[in-house]
Amino acid sequence: MALYLYYILKYIKNSKNIWWNKIIIVILYSDYYCNNYKLKMNTKIEVGNRLSKFGVKPSLQRIAILEYLMEHFTHPTADVIFNDLYPSIPTLSKTTVYNTLKLLEEQGVIQAISIDEKNIRYDADISVHAHFKCKRCGRVYDFPIKDDSIFEIKDSEDFIVTDYQVYYKGYCRQCKDIIVQNAN
Ligand SMILES: [Zn+2]
Ligand SMILES: [Zn+2]
Repeated sequence: MALYLYYILKYIKNSKNIWWNKIIIVILYSDYYCNNYKLKMNTKIEVGNRLSKFGVKPSLQRIAILEYLMEHFTHPTADVIFNDLYPSIPTLSKTTVYNTLKLLEEQGVIQAISIDEKNIRYDADISVHAHFKCKRCGRVYDFPIKDDSIFEIKDSEDFIVTDYQVYYKGYCRQCKDIIVQNAN
């Protein structure tokens, strides 16, 4: 694809035929937009399939919310999701966002994280991983767990564990230098 573009651009540069050049540029742009559109449609189908897999009926708003979470691994709150999606979906309400997130969490499509005392945050990554919250900037990062032996206590005779979360708190890579500088 890159080579094909290179030859076309080289041709345009050397050619004196302005109209022909304009036509080529229009074709290139429309090709780019069509591919972009196809990519967007494929993502929507993929997101819809994920919802169905977990027994959630795909609706446009549910797809939009899950798609947002699958693109933003910043562990956003319901308010952040609403504020970011609202401009492109004016029919979206805060209640719909809250209810959808609750439903997606109950069905196991996403996980809810309560590392933040004030707000519940959401994560489309449902694989086993811990979370790290920076005490300075408040960002929540994914934190790999190398030793999963801590999960051996998961089930015992007396308890059935249905949910567990591992949290770490401290300072992130951006904030740790500032903290060290201020301390000196
Ligand atoms: Zn930080
Ligand atoms: Zn995470």
